[in-house]
Amino acid sequence: MNILLFGPPGAGKGTQSALLKERLNMLHISTGDLFRANIKGQTELGLKAKAIIDRGDLVPDEITIGMVEQEFQKMSGQSFILDGFPRTVAQAEALDRLLATNNMDLGKAIFMDVSHDYLVKRLTGRRVCSDCGATFHVDAMPPKKEGVCDNCGGELKQRKDDHESVISTRLKAYEENTLPVLEYYKEAGKYVEVDGLGETEDVYKRIAAELA
Ligand code: AMP
Repeated sequence: MNILLFGPPGAGKGTQSALLKERLNMLHISTGDLFRANIKGQTELGLKAKAIIDRGDLVPDEITIGMVEQEFQKMSGQSFILDGFPRTVAQAEALDRLLATNNMDLGKAIFMDVSHDYLVKRLTGRRVCSDCGATFHVDAMPPKKEGVCDNCGGELKQRKDDHESVISTRLKAYEENTLPVLEYYKEAGKYVEVDGLGETEDVYKRIAAELA
């Protein structure tokens, strides 16, 4: 089943997508990761997106949709998780067109529900490996050695957009642009809500149950 995982920044979409990828062999498409790879590689797209992402705003729809279209061209029948896309109603409509063109279907739009207070704590404490992208948290999931990735020994860094000053802009962008996407999938009969609070494994079980 193809799914999308959505929810506010800090809901745990990336963590859960990584587990679904590993355990159910699903393809993980994260627009945030794609943008960060483009920024790291200093591509034209990355250069356009960097300042926007660093200040916590959404990258314009036409750039984001174009990037996702390219990812669809690389697909080969594996079930996928869309993580962080669509974030606007225009993107949701574009996704429907893209699915239809490619003879694909979306099974469920899974919303990870996490209350506002937890989001800020999760985001400010998040640390990401600059080499392999693995995610840790200073309190909830600390690495064995401070600042060093358990998986590959890479340096752990705080994302620029996880600084407190940027988080409020990201949450506002979410409320204004992404909350209407919820209604879009409710109307389409694809919407499912999962409690995103608690242990990673417990949240995983809730999501996996939706895929059974
Ligand atoms: P994420 O890693 O999903 O939190 O995304 C990080 C940042 O990338 C967001 O704050 C946006 O600036 C940008 N971004 C990711 N996905 C999208 C999207 N679907 N539409 C617009 N901007 C996006």
